[in-house]
Amino acid sequence: MAITKSVPVIDMKDFSTLPQKMVSACEEWGCFRLINHGVPLSLMSDMKDVTRSLHDLPMEIKMRNYNHLEPSKGYTPPNIASAFFESLSLYDAGSAAAVDHFCTQLDVSPQKREIILKYTSAIHDLAKVMGSKLMDGLGLNGEKFKEGISQFKLNRYNYGPETVGLQGAVMHSDAGFFTILHDDDNVNGLEVVDKTTGELISVDHVPGTLVFNVGDAGKVWSNGRFHNVKHQVQCYEASVRITIALFVLPAEDENVQVLPGLVDSDHPALYTPFNFEHYRRQRISTDSPTGEALEFFRSHPKLLS
Ligand code: MG
Repeated sequence: MAITKSVPVIDMKDFSTLPQKMVSACEEWGCFRLINHGVPLSLMSDMKDVTRSLHDLPMEIKMRNYNHLEPSKGYTPPNIASAFFESLSLYDAGSAAAVDHFCTQLDVSPQKREIILKYTSAIHDLAKVMGSKLMDGLGLNGEKFKEGISQFKLNRYNYGPETVGLQGAVMHSDAGFFTILHDDDNVNGLEVVDKTTGELISVDHVPGTLVFNVGDAGKVWSNGRFHNVKHQVQCYEASVRITIALFVLPAEDENVQVLPGLVDSDHPALYTPFNFEHYRRQRISTDSPTGEALEFFRSHPKLLS
């Protein structure tokens, strides 16, 4: 029988080996599954129900979450990214005021608001822990993890018989530092590219777990050590797919740059600092969905010395 490859699985309860295992997985795969992450299963399930109910709201209410100035920060209606994908967005999810604003936009009931607050705070805290463990694994115990801004996206893939075999999300890398994905509990679709062989590997759902992946800014941050994994979402079956993603992004007023502790004479900084929003725009204008635009910010230390 053929052995099906899968992404590494990391148990957060393995305290002593956790930082090193995370760093290895980020280097070799740019992606891993996280178990025993501490977010209560009942909260995960409640948040899925809330996400379903928000997407069932009439389009005119969901459009209140649309951000005219910065479309990437608000609701993505169908036909922007794909004909059957839509996504509600909570930008700066670590801020209670931003959560409040999001809930008010969508007329969320007090009970659901409570679930959103608890969930965003639990995943946001987890992201901070993951960031710190990565710093430990990189040998930077003295440096504090700068958490940046977090953005929640509540995604619905409106799959039906006519979409089977189509792409729900095109091949891309994420632009930010890293992403924590709460996948659908029944409907698969996420595929990542194996860095060494180029094969597509299905990341099938495992209920109660989370999937962690590195983005373009994470590659820069680690001075090129971490892999900004390419991934896509396929439609395998005619069932609606609901996922919730937390994107840890650089803060708007901060440059993306190589962690200073990773730079020495043997390891010069591979990238020059850049503004994240500028980079994001460059990704779009140069049609570089899998991080190719990072090459604009490559430094050439040998030429400079
Ligand atoms: Mg993605």
